[in-house]
Amino acid sequence: MLHVPIKHCKNCGTAVVYRIPDDGDTRQRAVCPACNTVHYENPLNVVGTIPVLGDRVLLCKRNIEPRWGKWTLPAGFMELGESTAQGAARETDEEAGAAYEMEGLFSVISVVRVGQVHLFYRARLLNDRFDPGHETLEARLFTEEEIPWDEIAFRTVRETLERYFADRKRGSFDIVHTIDIA
Ligand SMILES: [Zn+2]
Repeated sequence: MLHVPIKHCKNCGTAVVYRIPDDGDTRQRAVCPACNTVHYENPLNVVGTIPVLGDRVLLCKRNIEPRWGKWTLPAGFMELGESTAQGAARETDEEAGAAYEMEGLFSVISVVRVGQVHLFYRARLLNDRFDPGHETLEARLFTEEEIPWDEIAFRTVRETLERYFADRKRGSFDIVHTIDIA
């Protein structure tokens, strides 16, 4: 999902122009030539979980684009009015319908090119009964050996899973992984 330029003013609907505002700013912004509203665009947060039962991780098969039919961890855009952990829990409810307990923050991934920050929390599944929502074709558990690495939907999910299994082998989850993707 690349950056989509703003076309019209959110305040009055006039076509905006991209230029550096007159207030000492240094970046091009979408500025309204009619009402002078400056539209600031900043990275969005994507929040999710690594739900685990014993030595298996829960993945969801996507029933939505992009990457329809590929596997992912439950994750989605953070909503206004919730914390990062609340958003991650909500996405886990919506996409997997799993029973779980939230655990610690695991990874913080800056996806610079698309202007997103992805945050994944560990979650401990309480059982293997899932009730996936409409965005998910199938929710199932995978051991490390069973993970369909070539069918993982997003690089952030792959990076998070790789580090998760490495930490598991190491026997500790004491590090929050900070990862920058160009
Ligand atoms: Zn305007």
